[in-house]
Amino acid sequence: MSPVVVWTIAGFDPSSGAGITADLMTFAAHGLFGCSAITALTVQSTLGVAATEVVRPELLQHTLEHLFADLPPTGVKIGMLGSPENARVISRFLAENNSIPVVLDPVLRSSSGHALFPVSGIDELRNTLLPHVSFTTPNWSELALLSGQCVTSLDEATAAARALQQRCDLLNVVVTGGDQQTPTDLLVTATGECFLFPGEHIATTSTHGTGCAFSSSLLAHLVQGESAPEAVRGAKAFVADALRRAPGLGKGRGPLGLLPRSTW
Ligand code: PLP
Repeated sequence: MSPVVVWTIAGFDPSSGAGITADLMTFAAHGLFGCSAITALTVQSTLGVAATEVVRPELLQHTLEHLFADLPPTGVKIGMLGSPENARVISRFLAENNSIPVVLDPVLRSSSGHALFPVSGIDELRNTLLPHVSFTTPNWSELALLSGQCVTSLDEATAAARALQQRCDLLNVVVTGGDQQTPTDLLVTATGECFLFPGEHIATTSTHGTGCAFSSSLLAHLVQGESAPEAVRGAKAFVADALRRAPGLGKGRGPLGLLPRSTW
């Protein structure tokens, strides 16, 4: 039986902690065949992001069209966009291919504080891309920027998620809490149900790319037919295991152990 094809449309992190390469490892860990379209190159290591260079929208569009003609996806994960122009290209592409799960991790800045998307483009992201997405996975600060609302509690997170859904009927919002004191995730489904997913705090400095791993694992669970709450629970368990398996590489915030240890 041929493997299920999924795509990641995201940025390239040469240290393999985050971005395209981490997404592909996550897909492989779930038994899926991952293809990728690169939106931006970054210069980074476990010590942080030093520079970024955004891929031209024409080249991104060409990649999406060329790949689609040969290896159409059963689901798409979107990470770092790099520019509002790239967000627009992806929106147009999704508008024509809208029957598959699409997970958007709204990557706005790195944990080291480097901007990965211009704040001036957030309205465009929200208005053009979000309506074509079935799941988005912001953390509290990304949700605040996307919704324009204050997010300092789970109640405020629920209200901000509902505000995003007002313009996007089919959007499920997963507010990740991994960077909070109490790492509880919140799912507000498109039909208005709320689910809480409490997590345990895992003591490690190897947390580079947790958002990428979570959103890619979420897509993997969705294309395998799981319901929204099942898929969130599965992705959360995958990230927790990957944090525990982290190989301890680099001088800064190291990568997760996305593949079984026997693989390297
Ligand atoms: N670089 C790329 C290409 C990413 O996609 C991301 C996050 O999604 C990051 C860097 C930031 O990762 P972190 O927040 O773990 O520093």
